[in-house]
Amino acid sequence: MAVPFRRTSKMKKRMRRSHQALSVPGMTTCPNCGELILSHRVCSNCGYYKGKQVVAKKEPKTEE
Ligand SMILES: [Zn+2]
Repeated sequence: MAVPFRRTSKMKKRMRRSHQALSVPGMTTCPNCGELILSHRVCSNCGYYKGKQVVAKKEPKTEE
């Protein structure tokens, strides 16, 4: 493993890592059920997209 000649300063390290932040995906609320969903995707809770049901609705969550 390579050993650096001089240690990287805190400022240089932080400046480099300023580009490593993670971005939050574009989330919106479903107009049908109000659940948080990814935009341009079918709602995973009620199966609605563009005001129509495109995926058969699942039964309400049953905790076992
Ligand atoms: Zn929904």
